[in-house]
Amino acid sequence: MSEKKSKGQELMEELSYKKKNYYETADEKERKEIFAYAEGYKTFLDAAKTEREATAYAVGVAKENGFTEYRFGDKLKAGDKKYFVNRGKSVVVFRVGTKDPETDGFRIIASHIDAPRIDIKQNPLYEDSGMAFLKTHYYGGIKKYQWTAIPLALHGVVVLKNGEAVSVCVGEDAADPVFYINDLLPHLGAEQMAGNANKVIEGEQLNVVVGGLPYADGEVSEKIKLTVLDCLKRKYGMTEEDFLSAELSAVPAYGARDIGFDRALIGAYGHDDRVCAYPALTAVVGNASEHTVLAMLVDKEEIGSEGTTGIQCKVYEDLMEEIAVALGANFRKVRAASKCLSSDVTAAYDPNFAGVFEKMNAAILSCGTCMSKFTGARGKSGSNDANAEFVGEVRGAFAREGVVWQTAELGKVDIGGGGTVAKFVAQLNIDTVDLGVPVISMHAPWELISKADLYSTYKAFLAFMK
Ligand code: MN
Ligand code: MN
Repeated sequence: MSEKKSKGQELMEELSYKKKNYYETADEKERKEIFAYAEGYKTFLDAAKTEREATAYAVGVAKENGFTEYRFGDKLKAGDKKYFVNRGKSVVVFRVGTKDPETDGFRIIASHIDAPRIDIKQNPLYEDSGMAFLKTHYYGGIKKYQWTAIPLALHGVVVLKNGEAVSVCVGEDAADPVFYINDLLPHLGAEQMAGNANKVIEGEQLNVVVGGLPYADGEVSEKIKLTVLDCLKRKYGMTEEDFLSAELSAVPAYGARDIGFDRALIGAYGHDDRVCAYPALTAVVGNASEHTVLAMLVDKEEIGSEGTTGIQCKVYEDLMEEIAVALGANFRKVRAASKCLSSDVTAAYDPNFAGVFEKMNAAILSCGTCMSKFTGARGKSGSNDANAEFVGEVRGAFAREGVVWQTAELGKVDIGGGGTVAKFVAQLNIDTVDLGVPVISMHAPWELISKADLYSTYKAFLAFMK
């Protein structure tokens, strides 16, 4: 049925813009690549639920590919493959290119590897009414009620009195126990359910169940607490006081799984922002470039990029300056010539919640990696708002390399908003724009993405590095 198109139809095709579904436009070979790439991503997700684990995983992948550790002051030359670890919680993987850094700058892909979760307080352990609990303070923007009545794993590190750091990971092995946050039964939940969703579960109710077995000694008053302390002593050599210098987090205990009969989608904890960190890592580790390219996997984005491991810390600027100096380049010139993709997730349009989106400027699932020229809220406040010239340059690179991509902003005007690391990188006089994978149910304990958008993001990074 190939009737000739009318003149108007031809003109409309030539002049108008429509986003494309990447699965629809991909040939069979590319579809296979999309699905194959997702397998490696799921392995990464299950191995790296915290920023520490993601850092260790990235270092492992870098080492396997011939990258070696970089320390401030080290010499550098074209062709060097290096990784720089910041306090075990963030990592920059980089390749030194052949181009002149003063005129070509660096190509930077910045993603974050922390995710919303339930952090354990410093004096957390108590027992009450047949259960032992850990008190918590949640990390990042969560809907608190979503974190009850699901299996939780405990990840982190305990620094003992003697200074030794002991790693903790319980709940990931099928033979491990898991942990739990209580919710109220509907039979007694009438008053709870009538309340504001913010108050359905309050912060101080997010107490994690960690035990229920009384220690066999009639002389002790807190018997279940003692059983838990006894377990912790035998397993980690720790006492209750050692919680004071611990960093423990409860995260969903389940792993990444394909979603749908056709396996087009992936459900997992922490797609935000590991779904951009993984393509950043694999793009830089697995592909040579004439440019000097850096994959920055940073911490603390979910709480404002603060602290010594968040991107606002000078350590990342110091690293870039060290690289520039080691290559004999003027750092100001390098920065001025550098370009950055702030690679973070955005909200995918959800037809179940259509009211909060403006569909023409919303990210549609499987239509490829999504550029947000600006983020922010209420009149673009707090946003990077990239230059049209830079957006045009990136667009040109995507067109040359056949990247299927789209643009969007996060929700309707004045409905909400969000921020990324983009504005902090831009402060260094580096052209920066947001680009990343659209996510359904962002910040929920289990989020959803499309394998097509994941692979499109990887291809976008390759185009950016070319
Ligand atoms: Mn994010
Ligand atoms: Mn986030």
